[in-house]
Amino acid sequence: MRKKIVAGNWKMHKNAAQTKELLNELLTQIPAETAAQVIVAPTFVNLASAVENLTHSNISVAAQNVHQAESGAFTGEISADMLKSVGVNTVILGHSERRAIFHETDALIASKVNTALKHDMTVIFCFGEELKDRQSGNHFNIVENQLKDGLFHIEAKDWEKIVLAYEPVWAIGTGETASPEQAQDMHEFIRETVRKAFGSDVAEDVSILYGGSVKPDNAKEIFSKPDVDGGLIGGAALNAKDFIAIVTSI
Ligand code: 13P
Repeated sequence: MRKKIVAGNWKMHKNAAQTKELLNELLTQIPAETAAQVIVAPTFVNLASAVENLTHSNISVAAQNVHQAESGAFTGEISADMLKSVGVNTVILGHSERRAIFHETDALIASKVNTALKHDMTVIFCFGEELKDRQSGNHFNIVENQLKDGLFHIEAKDWEKIVLAYEPVWAIGTGETASPEQAQDMHEFIRETVRKAFGSDVAEDVSILYGGSVKPDNAKEIFSKPDVDGGLIGGAALNAKDFIAIVTSI
């Protein structure tokens, strides 16, 4: 069954006290009857405390990255086993900031996907075209290649652990959102691409989130599109009022 999901990617924001404060606000203010599965992704150092704070709640915790190796001499890196050991079962991979700023290639992301799946983690797989790709009309090709090169090596049974997050780079942190029609067109294309490779059951069941300047005033319209199953939220996930307004727009 396809799930509705709203996830907050906190990026490099919120220290320990601020993390606790925002989580407490979410805990006390998200209505119990909300239809969306809610996920938050604080920074690595605050993951363990976030898991503790959210015990007995419906909010789950995701990491923003993981290293592909099991362990070893990789100064500054975090393994899947470490994440699992503090109760984190979900990881965001392939975010455009990881791709652009930290030079993560499709091949590297593919190997991180393998590691996460091996540890039975859920992967929120991010991908999306840059402005130049859309302007040149190449956006469908780019998105298809990112999917195929980063993800399509997995087996059909692995798809129950995959959430897709289409995030056009030109809409991230810019205030410029894809129109609901642009989001729907791409999400429909993504679902068809999954269908061709893995069949209808997989394609119908996978949740495809939209990310890129989702705000309380545009969330409802974007989420109303048939192939948009929720959102991956950056800036607006950093304050409780906006994030809850988005969560309840589903
Ligand atoms: P904004 O919502 O700030 O545009 O960020 C989107 C994003 O990158 C979520 O991963």
